[in-house]
Amino acid sequence: MSATAAPSSPHVMNTYGRLPIALSHGQGCRVWDTEGRAYLDGLGGIAVNTLGHNHPELVPALQDQVSKLIHSSNYYHVPGQEQLAAKLTELSGLTNAFFCCTGLEANEAALKLARKFGHDKGIERPEIVVYEAAFHGRSIATLSATGNPKVQKGFGPLVEGFIRVPLNDIEALKKATEGNPNVVAVFFETIQGEGGIHPMRWEYLRQVRQLCDDRDWLMMIDEVQCGMGRTGKWFAHQWAGIKPDVMPLAKGLGSGVPIGAVVAGPRAANLFGPGNHGTTFGGNPLAMRAGIETIRIMEEHKLLDNAANVGAHLKGALERELGGLPGVKEIRGQGLMLGIELDRPCGVILNRACEAGLLLSVTADSVIRLVPPLILSVAEADEIVAILVPIVKAFLAEPTP
Ligand SMILES: *Cc1c(COP(=O)(O)O)cnc(C)c1O
Repeated sequence: MSATAAPSSPHVMNTYGRLPIALSHGQGCRVWDTEGRAYLDGLGGIAVNTLGHNHPELVPALQDQVSKLIHSSNYYHVPGQEQLAAKLTELSGLTNAFFCCTGLEANEAALKLARKFGHDKGIERPEIVVYEAAFHGRSIATLSATGNPKVQKGFGPLVEGFIRVPLNDIEALKKATEGNPNVVAVFFETIQGEGGIHPMRWEYLRQVRQLCDDRDWLMMIDEVQCGMGRTGKWFAHQWAGIKPDVMPLAKGLGSGVPIGAVVAGPRAANLFGPGNHGTTFGGNPLAMRAGIETIRIMEEHKLLDNAANVGAHLKGALERELGGLPGVKEIRGQGLMLGIELDRPCGVILNRACEAGLLLSVTADSVIRLVPPLILSVAEADEIVAILVPIVKAFLAEPTP
């Protein structure tokens, strides 16, 4: 692509289709590559860098923590776990949290909670409802829950005990579970991320909540990508006025420091006892400090409002510029989690935007995804539009192969 040479990877496993650049440092919503080229960050490390880069309040807090204690052990109490769990339960209305390091781990914990919930009720072969196009991670259990055959291919036999249904169709959910006494939980993303920015309708969320109450199922919402303020509320499901029983979090929770959590309400918070679940790194003092400070800074700088307002501005501008053009199917999402679906595969837009100085991603083959840091300004949103719109228009004007 550009003059930038592709750094070669003779010793790193070949698991990613990488762009031929390497980033060296960042400031706010800007990052620079090792050759000194600047980029506007429309991706935020895939919805991870909540506070952007080199945040003037986060960095000193992490430096302070590194000099005190990076890791202790879950052999001991970790005060930061208590503090972050108290904050997450306050924000979610749930009651208890377990800490891990990644999204898939948070989802593994959720799946184990659902199975334990079943076994405690005498259900020997518990089954969990999952959704088409869902993404929950790449461990054997979470890739089995994922609804993308490409993620599963080559890794069978898959974990059993999943029932798959389409999004936003309450009758389909009822039909798929009719007369099945082994169902223990419904598990989904409020807004599917990797699947192509597909939101669950709020009315559907309320219907699922009711069904879970009526049938004594756990409602488990994977907010790994859409949570932590990205949509303008702490958790995307809060737009529907409902509460889940189990909520995995990760990505944006630590602004880049690896951290995951599963937060649970009264029906699921006491299913695990000592020995049922654990992890060496989970909840370590550095990660806890990152989570605590991220939330504190988000509150102090009203970043939920910023995500909602700048997100609405960005979506509005994209709709004005691209909505209704032949080839543009739909512009979806909420806050700073937006997708532009085209009528054809558009992976090349990722490269062209990168060459033009804008980082973003293309997911589900034909959906341009924007999940920038939540500190994005209106001026930066306008800059995203100014770079992206001509690229999309030029792409759509090309003859389809
Ligand atoms: C990214 C993602 C995961 C997996 O998180 P990892 O940290 O990559 O394991 C799970 N669920 C959703 C919704 C995600 O977006």
